[in-house]
Amino acid sequence: MNEILSASQEKIKKAVYIKAWCWGGVSSFLIALFFYHIVSISPEIFRLGLSFVVFVIAFMIAVKIAVYFLSGDHQCEACNATYSVELINTEEVFLSAIPRSAIKSGGRMLSGDREGKEIIIHENWTEEKYDVTREYSCVVCGDNYLEQGIETRKTSFSSAKTYR
Ligand SMILES: [Zn+2]
Repeated sequence: MNEILSASQEKIKKAVYIKAWCWGGVSSFLIALFFYHIVSISPEIFRLGLSFVVFVIAFMIAVKIAVYFLSGDHQCEACNATYSVELINTEEVFLSAIPRSAIKSGGRMLSGDREGKEIIIHENWTEEKYDVTREYSCVVCGDNYLEQGIETRKTSFSSAKTYR
């Protein structure tokens, strides 16, 4: 694809690539780190060098995948222009806040005064629900569309441990 992009589209394209590089950088670093831990080649310099090669290859693939998915999000369905859809407004309507709690087992103490006792984890949080409407607009044809949905958020999370 060799279409000419407007300044606004170039801006969106840049943001997509920055996001893709960040995502690609983090994920390929983790892949390379994992690779470094599972291979045992000596001397160390080969192990590091090979891990670096894995990083570079993983980075190129990860960025391609990320750009593919992110570009799809920014393509206008009305005029088909790439890198043209922008989020222009977000509106949130508070619906409800419900206190929640859970009790989980955290296994057994392996040492110390409480050795052998079961760890009980008590968790408390507030479940907040919002009705969120996001408004998107195409910088090429001006087409507007809304995306609406209910979003749930966990807030005021706290946890405490007891033993039995
Ligand atoms: Zn459009």
